[in-house]
Amino acid sequence: MRALTYHGKKDVRVDTHPDPEIVNPRDAIIRVTSTAICGSDLHLYDGVIPGVLSGDILGHEFMGEVVETGPGSTLKKGQRVVVPFTIACGTCFFCDKHQFSACDNSNPVDKREISETLYGQPMSGLFGYSHMTGGYPGGQAEYVRVPYSDVGPVVIENDDLEDEQVLFLSDILPTGWMAAENAQIEPGDTVAVWGAGPVGLFAAQSAKLMNAARVIVIDHYPHRLELAAGLGCETINFRDVDVREALNEMTGGIGPDAVIDAVGMEAHGFAVDNMLDIAKQTVGMGADRASALKQALLAVRKGGRVSIPGVYGGMTDKFPLGALMEKGLKIGTGQTHVQKYTKMLLGMIEEGKINTTFLISHRLPLEQAADGYANFRNQQNDWTKVILKPGG
Ligand code: NAD
Ligand code: ZN
Repeated sequence: MRALTYHGKKDVRVDTHPDPEIVNPRDAIIRVTSTAICGSDLHLYDGVIPGVLSGDILGHEFMGEVVETGPGSTLKKGQRVVVPFTIACGTCFFCDKHQFSACDNSNPVDKREISETLYGQPMSGLFGYSHMTGGYPGGQAEYVRVPYSDVGPVVIENDDLEDEQVLFLSDILPTGWMAAENAQIEPGDTVAVWGAGPVGLFAAQSAKLMNAARVIVIDHYPHRLELAAGLGCETINFRDVDVREALNEMTGGIGPDAVIDAVGMEAHGFAVDNMLDIAKQTVGMGADRASALKQALLAVRKGGRVSIPGVYGGMTDKFPLGALMEKGLKIGTGQTHVQKYTKMLLGMIEEGKINTTFLISHRLPLEQAADGYANFRNQQNDWTKVILKPGG
């Protein structure tokens, strides 16, 4: 089969691999009909997530048709499914608590060392996201093996729904929702969101659905900010104004009630602090570029809430711990517990309450995936979300 393959920093190619096979009884094989490139994939592409090896198949946002099932799978051949990027067994201590992205069984024992060293505990398994999270082949491919297929995949029975309407149930839609939930929004709140990428846009849309009175989105790409404005959000371009001053002015000197960092470890911007972080990241010293998060911690009101869907890999320097403690802030974060949200969000898509397609800018055949990565990374203003079609 053909699959998007990691060869090194900023070097991905579509190569030929053996077709996947059923390994465990609960596995299923999916023929991928649609898959997407995520901001998280850019962290792999840029070489800032540990444990990615040449030859790895990337991709964790995908859907398709069930073509083979193990004896323990509850799926049936021919069913159309969207697959969560978090691989979860459904029965461990964490899955029982619906903390699916903390599943204790999905990351094989021989892959746990990196995350145990970095985080003190092993990560769970994720599709196409390095050997730190299981080394599972990803879904930017013609076929993919889905472990625990009786737990994760959402069967799409409504043929009237296009792939593009439901594909984002695999990651960014639940991620935006959980980001807003972690911001503990109360009706009437003012919420500020850093990053007008797919995650920030879905977080902003979710915050509105949770009755935030005002949602302010911060980025430096005009077109991405236009998409946010289209959702009824106010916007700040951080190239034009001082973000903290602007937020203070917009909130009567108090600051937003809740802030959401939908940027993560590769923040843009030219503040001295960020430049040092860029330099360290470049020479492999592993410092996450957390300038958006640092700004958010200073901007949020006292007693406010901080939600961090943006991905961080390791350590960061000069973290404003004092702001966090002295202002009495509450923090919520994590890889998304996708399985917890999919059915509810599918219902909202069917009822027309959530718009999932407005952020798609490009549709490419899988064979052009390398161009998709380069453009999604280097032309972020216009390349807002890329869908890949295997066999297309
Ligand atoms: P993206 O790269 O498309 O968007 C990031 C946006 O942040 C860009 O528009 C960029 O211009 C903006 N930005 C950069 N620096 C900024 C700054 N200093 N201030 C304000 N905006 C800034 O990525 P995405 O797909 O939207 O993902 C966003 C983050 O969410 C990534 O870190 C990704 O890894 C993470 N993510 C997390 C989960 C999860 O489970 N928690 C799931 C998916 C994605
Ligand atoms: Zn993703």
